[in-house]
Amino acid sequence: MTRRCLFARSFGFLAVAAAVKHARAAKLPPGVVRLVDFTDSGKRIGAVTTEKVIKTDEEWRRQLTPEQYQVTRKQGTEMAFTGKYYNLHDKGIYRCICCGNALFSSDTKFESGTGWPSFWEPIAKENIETRTDFSYGVRTEVLCRKCEAHLGHVFPDGPPPTGLRYCMNSAALQFIKAEPGK
Ligand SMILES: [Zn+2]
Repeated sequence: MTRRCLFARSFGFLAVAAAVKHARAAKLPPGVVRLVDFTDSGKRIGAVTTEKVIKTDEEWRRQLTPEQYQVTRKQGTEMAFTGKYYNLHDKGIYRCICCGNALFSSDTKFESGTGWPSFWEPIAKENIETRTDFSYGVRTEVLCRKCEAHLGHVFPDGPPPTGLRYCMNSAALQFIKAEPGK
């Protein structure tokens, strides 16, 4: 292969890579996310494109209780067996305490024995995001995709069918009890 040919091929690859990257970036402008909307009874409404909720520290402090603020905005963890949802078995959905984004359904809640509300799957994978957290060993942090609230962590020791355990803080969630017929 001639040098010129090699250059052309490399350039071609880079151009394709750049085009793909651009297409991905063009799909959603910065600060915009695609989520799935649900009714309070857990019925899937459909995909929505919406702006992320971005607030100042002061605004979050005003909106949240000190515990909710510490957990969601400062990556805190509530004490085990102290939250209001670890032992809740009612039917309904769990929304983000900060922005109302639907996060989990009671249909996937299970008894983990840990003292934190535990789920084997989010209500829609689009509604959360995960990132690696190196604060205590290596863990996978779970965040709300709409407002980046810290929710908890996900571990690979959950029950079937996913084998995952989404270990959440009650303080990051707001439970909405299902009303029959809605
Ligand atoms: Zn949120």
